[in-house]
Amino acid sequence: MDNPGWARILQHMKTDLIIVGGGLNGPALALAAAQAGFSVTIVDSLALDTRKRVDFDGRSYALAHASMRLLRGIGIWDGIAKHAQPMLEIKVTDGRSGEGPSPWMMHFDHTEIEEGPMGYMVEDRHLRRAFLDAMADAPLITHLASETVVAQQVDQAGVTVTLASGQKLNGTLLVGSDGRKSGTATRAGIKRTGWGYGQTAVVCAVEHEKPHGGIAHQFFMPDGPLAILPLTKNRSSIVWSEADARAAELISMSAADFLDALRPAFGSFLGEISLTGARFSYSLGLTLANSFVADRVALVGDAAHGVHPIAGQGLNAGLRDVAALADVLEQARGRGEDIGSLQTLARYQQWRRFDTTTLALATDTFNKLFSNDNPLLRAARDIGMGLVNAAPGLRRGFIREAAGLSGDLPRLMRG
Ligand SMILES: Cc1cc2nc3c(=O)[nH]c(=O)nc-3n(C[C@H](O)[C@H](O)[C@H](O)COP(=O)(O)OP(=O)(O)OC[C@H]3O[C@@H](n4cnc5c(N)ncnc54)[C@H](O)[C@@H]3O)c2cc1C
Repeated sequence: MDNPGWARILQHMKTDLIIVGGGLNGPALALAAAQAGFSVTIVDSLALDTRKRVDFDGRSYALAHASMRLLRGIGIWDGIAKHAQPMLEIKVTDGRSGEGPSPWMMHFDHTEIEEGPMGYMVEDRHLRRAFLDAMADAPLITHLASETVVAQQVDQAGVTVTLASGQKLNGTLLVGSDGRKSGTATRAGIKRTGWGYGQTAVVCAVEHEKPHGGIAHQFFMPDGPLAILPLTKNRSSIVWSEADARAAELISMSAADFLDALRPAFGSFLGEISLTGARFSYSLGLTLANSFVADRVALVGDAAHGVHPIAGQGLNAGLRDVAALADVLEQARGRGEDIGSLQTLARYQQWRRFDTTTLALATDTFNKLFSNDNPLLRAARDIGMGLVNAAPGLRRGFIREAAGLSGDLPRLMRG
């Protein structure tokens, strides 16, 4: 919003929630909270034009079944569904470049659960567009783009944030959905724990001759995992985690050289492949906020926990934070409690911190266990995969986990 008149009005208004960060989790929370009747101001540094780009930029997400339910619950799934590719099966294989997959593998099929596809592949551009359109239509949401939060001050009555433009906003609760380097957390005195993996994810999309049949593949290669995830039509998204130096080479190569490097790992099961869109790189690391809450402050998404993309669960975990926080805030209001009090926010932290810490440690362990070529470890993990695959109960447990259907589900994820 660029209207200075609005800026003056907002300065004197107090909203229930001020959300810092309009990436993916921030807008999801804005819509969930507005639907529950809370007034929301959401602030993001990026310009709206940047967010509204409709050309395919190669980025996409594996959204778990439970995340789809949340998007349906906040009213944006219908617009996204036509662009979403259902994930019907997941195949996990130990592999070595040029050698093809080992015979040991895990195969998860959605027909083993009643709910439907385990998840959906959704392109970033469709997700962002749906969030922006829905926020523009929501009377309780004020979206401030091209604005950066530079300061925050908490007192008994509420929280005041200052924007780089000098404007001040008043609210009852401040939510940091401002990503892995969350300034909201730092300003609230929340420290972080984490480390780098020495790996970079190279992300792109490819077109291929043969249909993928809705099957997602995860190949564990010695330098890092390679995920081949089905997009609509004969296209797949690639998330290729490699040692930093090798990833830098892969990004700087010509498209033809990149495809030559990819082919031995990718294999020939989908026929000839070609690149569609650009290549992106993401330096990989783990970051966990030591607390998800402080007085009048809550963290969601990557601001609270940034994990390795090995299981495609980062955004799914963030959306579960969103649904859990929306539940906690609604219940607090129903009981006449202050939505910004530490007592209220502690319930959110109790619900989400253990789960997300477990996810962070599990992805960390998987990455360390699989990203190496030690023959003993290779034998152990292959036997482990064979055992899981042979046990229907374990297999079903993995499928429910991947679909986000296990544990204590917040209302918006219950379907
Ligand atoms: C290679 C890769 C593949 C992935 N694949 C998957 C997948 O398949 N499935 C899945 O579930 N997850 C996946 N993830 C994880 C997922 O991308 C992230 O969890 C998710 O994007 C985090 O969203 P967010 O909204 O929390 O943070 P971000 O997207 O980082 O958004 C933060 C926002 O805050 C804004 N901001 C920051 N500071 C300020 C400030 N001071 N004032 C105003 N605005 C500010 C920024 O402009 C930004 O827009 C993947 C991650 C990677 C790296």
